[in-house]
Amino acid sequence: MPWYVVNGCPVHLKLSGKAAKNPPSQCVARVERDGRPAKCCGISTLLCDWPVDGGTCDAPLCAEHGVEVGRDRHYCPRHAAAAREREPELF
Ligand SMILES: [Zn+2]
Ligand SMILES: [Zn+2]
Repeated sequence: MPWYVVNGCPVHLKLSGKAAKNPPSQCVARVERDGRPAKCCGISTLLCDWPVDGGTCDAPLCAEHGVEVGRDRHYCPRHAAAAREREPELF
């Protein structure tokens, strides 16, 4: 059963049907938990759309960490920082 961190607490999620076969990934954004660096592990609903060789970054991101940069375009925090330098008009 997949688990995620929701509101700072690890939870197991009971999924049914299609979601059970293909559960969402854990958000890969780096956060600080109890003063230590950790992975967010939230339920991902977005993928990073940053273009890389042969596709997009595709880092799974929760709603909190997907940085919106346009209609249906989201970047992971790392790539949002890179985009901010390259294309500040997006933000
Ligand atoms: Zn997250
Ligand atoms: Zn990315």
